[in-house]
Amino acid sequence: MEKLTDVKYIKTLMREHGTEFKKRFGQNFLVNDSVLEDIAENADEGVLEIGPGIGSLTQKLCERAKKVAALEIDSELIPILNKTLAEYDNVSIINLDVMKTDIPELIKENFGNMSVSVCANLPYYITTPVIMLLLECGVKFSNITVMIQKEVAARLCALPGSADYGAITASVAYYAKAKRLFNVSSGNFVPAPKVDSSVVRLDLYKEPPVSCHDSDFLFKIIAAAFAQRRKTLVNALSSGLSISKEEAVNAIKSVGLDENIRGERLSIAEFAELCHEIKGKK
Ligand code: SAM
Repeated sequence: MEKLTDVKYIKTLMREHGTEFKKRFGQNFLVNDSVLEDIAENADEGVLEIGPGIGSLTQKLCERAKKVAALEIDSELIPILNKTLAEYDNVSIINLDVMKTDIPELIKENFGNMSVSVCANLPYYITTPVIMLLLECGVKFSNITVMIQKEVAARLCALPGSADYGAITASVAYYAKAKRLFNVSSGNFVPAPKVDSSVVRLDLYKEPPVSCHDSDFLFKIIAAAFAQRRKTLVNALSSGLSISKEEAVNAIKSVGLDENIRGERLSIAEFAELCHEIKGKK
């Protein structure tokens, strides 16, 4: 079988099927075999792949997993996938937009009681919405291992107080432990994107790592805290949550924080304590 990391072969394959790389779908295909292997190593019994492209990662996943479900938005790639994955009987190729898919239903239909991970080279134009969708959809994936822009990876793995720490870091930390596995330079893709990438693995917690009875309110607090980074937490909370400054100061002090602190210094545990404190007074 031809190698799906051979750039000449990829171009021929696409030409033969009357299609071309589509920027609007973030089509930058990985052409480094060992990077594909290193991503596929994180496959569980069942694997959900988002954006199989021409099937290069999918082949590796099929070799390791019991079952693979691959969601591809571009209908022009489906005939290619049918060809490159023809020898595997453990894959379902599904022509859908991940953002419009009922993920829990798809997981139930394809994997039954299997333990399921996500492995993907994500389309960069929707990296964070896809990650949040996967974390919030209620499916307990064992891990989510994704190739994303290096800058976004830095945000997901940042520590409180660092320049990269933001609302997305704190929100992801509620669901999972994020770890950067390795970096991949843009030359490993065809066509080469403008930015370098990193592979990040999110290991989902079975139970949230912090106690919080109202996660919606917790996310509201996080959003308010980071809405205007230059404001102190007191000002950010009072404007973002429509509470008085006095209320905000009291809540911040009663969880043992300095009243002049900025939101970017708070860990998810401290946000949860604050949530408990403000919510309890309402
Ligand atoms: N997995 C291949 C690889 O590693 O070479 C392709 C990865 S490419 C970065 C992203 C893929 O996601 C493309 O095949 C693209 O068509 C697909 N895609 C883009 N938006 C999507 C969406 N909303 N739902 C499902 N697939 C999508």
